[in-house]
Amino acid sequence: MLRPIKLALLNAAVLVLALPAYGLHATMDAVATDLGGGLTAYDFTIHGNDAVGAIDTLYNLDIPTYLIANALVGVVSQRLARRICPTCSKPHAPTPAELDALGLGSASSTKSSFRRGSGCAECLATGYRGRIGLFEVLSVTEKMRELILEQSGKQVLQQAAERDGMQTLRENAIEKIASGATTPEEYLKNM
Ligand SMILES: [Zn+2]
Repeated sequence: MLRPIKLALLNAAVLVLALPAYGLHATMDAVATDLGGGLTAYDFTIHGNDAVGAIDTLYNLDIPTYLIANALVGVVSQRLARRICPTCSKPHAPTPAELDALGLGSASSTKSSFRRGSGCAECLATGYRGRIGLFEVLSVTEKMRELILEQSGKQVLQQAAERDGMQTLRENAIEKIASGATTPEEYLKNM
């Protein structure tokens, strides 16, 4: 049974694991002791810049690759961004520097829907109210499993994940910026 992923309020990656409750490497003992038995799922947080970075971190913890390959179901990498205040949100034409920083050309069609909070009593003149998550969700497919077994590096894993259709953190951020939910600097300050 999959537990709901606890998306804690921090900027980190969440590993989603399906683990046998025995024979685990010492690094995973804390996880294993919390399991009743059989095959179950668990999630925990690990610091890494992105989803494939979290797998690289597991390599560096000397966890055998067969264990990672068999236990890991996916990785959710997350960044928190302040949400543009809905009360004072206004259209905003992004500067060339903003588009550049996001890797978007000046002719990009997404720029027309950028927004910014102008500041009001509701948001204490900050232009932001509440938070949203920016996500990168990596599924461990059969192909990914093979690559992890071979202890493939970040670049190879990243290419494979994107071929498998993973939306990168940057792409997810651009989608949310382009829909007026947050601003470029909220994404860029976290990268
Ligand atoms: Zn406001």
